[in-house]
Amino acid sequence: MTRPALVLDFDGTAVPHDVGGGLLHRFARDPSWQVVDNDYENGRIGSRAAYRVAARVIGGDPAAWTAFALGRTRLDPSLAPLVARCRAAGWPVEILSDGLEFYIRALLGREGVRLPVRANRVAAGPDGVRIHTPHLNPRCGRCGTCKTERVEALARQGHTVVYVGDGYSDLCAAPRAHRVFARDVLARHLAERGVAHERFHTLADVLAALFPARAEAAG
Ligand SMILES: [Mg+2]
Repeated sequence: MTRPALVLDFDGTAVPHDVGGGLLHRFARDPSWQVVDNDYENGRIGSRAAYRVAARVIGGDPAAWTAFALGRTRLDPSLAPLVARCRAAGWPVEILSDGLEFYIRALLGREGVRLPVRANRVAAGPDGVRIHTPHLNPRCGRCGTCKTERVEALARQGHTVVYVGDGYSDLCAAPRAHRVFARDVLARHLAERGVAHERFHTLADVLAALFPARAEAAG
């Protein structure tokens, strides 16, 4: 049997809130990004194009963004036990996000959860904010972080890929995984396309499904 690998989306999955979206609501200097956000949700543009607009309108600074993110949400309480259980079983676990690395690392770090993170990066300089996309797929270029490329790479390495996600950034990658846990937008899209998936509400559901508690021996 091949060794599973667990891939977790961050916003709306490892934390219950959309931190990236919340940052835009809080720090955008004008509402022009809302049209772009709508285009993104309707699939007319990818996140990379949306990030170009977001970078133009975002105000504040990295310290204020981090304080906002830390005040907005906390990790799903089952993330740490899920990661521990996977590691004990020898499964690699990682965060694969089309959000921004700084708030993911801040939120993980506050609760002492150590995980590899693949996400976009933001830099604030004298010419304004820049979004860097180190995990872009140059053959496509639609998303900042190409989740599909990563899922396919893990599968090529021989892993059975277990994917957990909730939103638009997961639509392309999730059907390439071997087992999918989905909620919200992702669950609706997969159901419409007839793609097999398991619904989850919190990561406690994922933990229970992946590692069912052994039944107590009778007597
Ligand atoms: Mg998400």
